[in-house]
Amino acid sequence: MRNQDIRTGIIAFLLMLLVGSTAWADTEACVVCSVNQGVIHLEDCPLKERVGTETFYFCKRGCRDEFLSDPESWSRKFAALKIDTTQTEAGSLPDFRFPLEPIGSLSRADLEGKVVVINMWATWCAPCMAEMPDLIKLQEQLSNEGLAVLALSFDKTSEAHRKGIKDLGLNFVSIEANKPEVQNFLKQVGPPESIPVTLIVDREFKIVKRFNRPIDYQTLKDVVKPLLQKGGDEVSSNDEGGSIVPS
Ligand SMILES: [Zn+2]
Repeated sequence: MRNQDIRTGIIAFLLMLLVGSTAWADTEACVVCSVNQGVIHLEDCPLKERVGTETFYFCKRGCRDEFLSDPESWSRKFAALKIDTTQTEAGSLPDFRFPLEPIGSLSRADLEGKVVVINMWATWCAPCMAEMPDLIKLQEQLSNEGLAVLALSFDKTSEAHRKGIKDLGLNFVSIEANKPEVQNFLKQVGPPESIPVTLIVDREFKIVKRFNRPIDYQTLKDVVKPLLQKGGDEVSSNDEGGSIVPS
């Protein structure tokens, strides 16, 4: 009898660990943020609620509370949203062409076959500035394995943005987010509620992870390394690595 109790306890504990870790690692669509922004909003959703047979995910308590005030209406709107976005397949990187200064542009095709880290930042954002050296290190260490970092800046002026690039010594491209092309892109991937936000995109243009919080070198490396190893040998020998070559 006692042995069985212990065994049950161990099993319960293991289950708890399993459930806990999957819940933490899940990138799901927050129902409330998705409906409010009219796009599937993939992010870390630690909260969930079961309604009938369906499970709904939430990025924060406020979103869950709002959902629970009228679950029927929210789930209906969310279902409609999912139907609307079936053509663009939620979670894949939308096609884009961003203008580059002073000339040229950067399109999704320029990133073909690369693992892309898209970071939303600004010089006025202290946690953004704190993680920049880690992104620089990531680009430095892993670009030859097929990684490319791309930054989108929410600075209020071009001067502040340019000064930030220079002061930090950025070794990757940063584009101002107020450009209409970038605005359109953000609408499709889910605009940031706050920055920093970092998206991880695999070699097949699938957004595999969204961090709505500051990150560091090790966190990024843990996510990016397996993606680089996947399909890495398909990269041709004359590939010049992960630096972005604008078209
Ligand atoms: Zn939310």
